[in-house]
Amino acid sequence: MDARVKPAHDENSMRPTLLNPLFAPVTSLPGVGPKQDKLLRYLLARAETPRLVDLLLHLPASVIDRRARPKIREASAGTMVTLEVTVDRHRPPPPRNSRAPYLVYASDETGDVVLTFFRAKPGYVEKLLPVGEKRYVSGTLQFYDGIPQIVHPDRVVDEEGFAKLSGIDPVYPLTEGLALGSLRRAIAQALQKLPALPEWLSPEVIRRCKFPDVTEALNRVHVPVELTDILPDGPFWSRLAFDELLAGQLALALIRAQLRRPAGDRNAGDGHLRSRIIDALPYALTASQRAAVAAITDDLKQPVRMLRLLQGDVGSGKTVVALLAAAAVTEAGKQAALMAPTEILARQHIKTIAPLAEQAGLQVAILTGREKGKERRELLARLDAGEIDLLVGTHALIQDDVVFKSLALAVVDEQHRFGVRERLALTNKGEAVDVLVLSATPIPRTLVLTYFGDMDVSELREKPAGRQPIDTRTVPLSRTEEVVDAVGRALKAGKRVYWICPLVEESEAEGIEHLTNATQRFESLQKRFGNQVGLVHGQMKGTEKDRVMGQFAVGEIGLLVATTVVEVGVDVPAATIMVIENAERFGLAQLHQLRGRIGRGSEASTCLLLYKEPLNEMSTARLKVIRETTDGFRIAEEDLKLRGEGDVLGIRQSGLPGYRIARSEVHGQLITQARDEALRIMKENPRLKGERGEALRCLLYLYERDEAVPLIGAG
Ligand code: ADP
Ligand code: MG
Repeated sequence: MDARVKPAHDENSMRPTLLNPLFAPVTSLPGVGPKQDKLLRYLLARAETPRLVDLLLHLPASVIDRRARPKIREASAGTMVTLEVTVDRHRPPPPRNSRAPYLVYASDETGDVVLTFFRAKPGYVEKLLPVGEKRYVSGTLQFYDGIPQIVHPDRVVDEEGFAKLSGIDPVYPLTEGLALGSLRRAIAQALQKLPALPEWLSPEVIRRCKFPDVTEALNRVHVPVELTDILPDGPFWSRLAFDELLAGQLALALIRAQLRRPAGDRNAGDGHLRSRIIDALPYALTASQRAAVAAITDDLKQPVRMLRLLQGDVGSGKTVVALLAAAAVTEAGKQAALMAPTEILARQHIKTIAPLAEQAGLQVAILTGREKGKERRELLARLDAGEIDLLVGTHALIQDDVVFKSLALAVVDEQHRFGVRERLALTNKGEAVDVLVLSATPIPRTLVLTYFGDMDVSELREKPAGRQPIDTRTVPLSRTEEVVDAVGRALKAGKRVYWICPLVEESEAEGIEHLTNATQRFESLQKRFGNQVGLVHGQMKGTEKDRVMGQFAVGEIGLLVATTVVEVGVDVPAATIMVIENAERFGLAQLHQLRGRIGRGSEASTCLLLYKEPLNEMSTARLKVIRETTDGFRIAEEDLKLRGEGDVLGIRQSGLPGYRIARSEVHGQLITQARDEALRIMKENPRLKGERGEALRCLLYLYERDEAVPLIGAG
């Protein structure tokens, strides 16, 4: 290729070189060392050293207004002021009392003010506030014995420095140990490195939404000129949110375009295996299961690839639908794969599926990290030879040496745990693979859009017949003994009980003593109930987990103490009681998932939510939602609402998971607009060519949605 037309890309990643400065590590900034690195990793939720781009996308939570410049006599207590003063004299702490503050007396023509410094470094204050000079001092004014004072002024600048101040300072979400000043300095430096970015939005969008350009948007949120500049629904933040959403939507659209390329042969057979499975079922399919199977089979027959989301609350019976889809593919002489996020879940699937498959003559196998050596080699050989019809497994399925003879259907369970990369890796193992995504977490429409783009959706709205409602109650931890007594009575009556404990991560462990870890709870319950009690948690070996789960499933043990490993998919219909310890620590969706493990049989079930007192308002509201409904869709919606309010309360956990800037409750409108814009781009310029195309690639890299870039033009 001619060197002059070769696009400017970073050697390693195809990233446009233009963006390289933004992907430099924060530690390349002066004043950012290993300690800051660690704090910033924590703050910005990154496993590795954050890059400048991560700093720039960390937006302010509020502002300090320093524009108020009253005279000393007019200044009122408790307000943020900037005073123009002359430094009169210093009073360092007496030599034997280093705890006493260092005081500086200053004044203007209306009065005196005391500037107070605790534990000041020697020489620091002298240099900052030379006697006889004029300085601008800002901070919160207080009165001490009737004398105005400012303790630790935020800023002390001279005439020249003052001229440079905007008067409004951003305040960022912080983490313990990280000073606002040092974060601000780092962000200001990152802003200096911002290259001239090309415009990737179309003139129509810019006009319609009245968006500023991206450089202005970044500058104005980090160096606000007006108090309103940092509001999420203001033009600057909205522009950035739109960019982020567009990057997401465009990546999805690119992937989808790839997936939608015409499929070759059709992937559903004559139905004989399906009817054998249906005949072997100990129950009748619900109407919505039947409808889902029909829709899927229809997709499989179409000359374009299937991309369908099967959404159904926990316990709604998605597995059997997936199995029937696999059977349809087998009828056509092809293979299917089912990928689950955890080993337990994969084994659970194979356990449900294997007996039914056997009746129908369908060859199934499992592949996880646990299958090794000879066993694994043999399995892979059979897979390659087309002797396995349905391969169930974990991430292990996407390893390079896993080769299918003719993979035609990829079923991905609990999709939100997998990234786009994994989804692609699996579908790349066959020609024009049809994709079925199973999601147990009912996802509100806006989220479906942000995560999957436009997908066909089948919903399993009804629960299988005969399900009993779950009686859910909240109980303070102080009454744990009574709960243990009740569990004892239940065990005597032959019932099966889950006892769920929250995860204690090591880093979290200190300072949260009230969290009971599963092992401790197991030991105390074992003292009381002996060998009726079992324990499973994430750190256990897979085989050991299975053994214990198996014992619980057949009733050899009646009480299973567990961490959230049982959250997804585990299916023991005979279990009718669940105790969740420290329920206030769990997310709503997680509580719903957990509780979905009971109420699966024909017997009435009970869920006890043990909470630590006192409950804050947010936790009270959340537990109330869980108590009042078992409708996953309602819970998901309430969850969004509550998290929105949480944001108002200053808890920064609102927003869309995986998105840093866009927030569902503020930018809901923008999601659909970004979707439409992505579709328009796909129609007009699917290969992202020309100036706009290059700019859009920049956007994808900036927001790290570049998985899809190698696909452009691949087909
Ligand atoms: P999920 O949608 O949570 O993955 P599963 O597929 O694990 O649900 O099904 C939950 C339980 O319901 C399983 O024990 C399964 O055998 C049972 N089940 C599925 N469909 C029906 C049905 N139509 N009638 C009765 N039970 C069903
Ligand atoms: Mg499931």
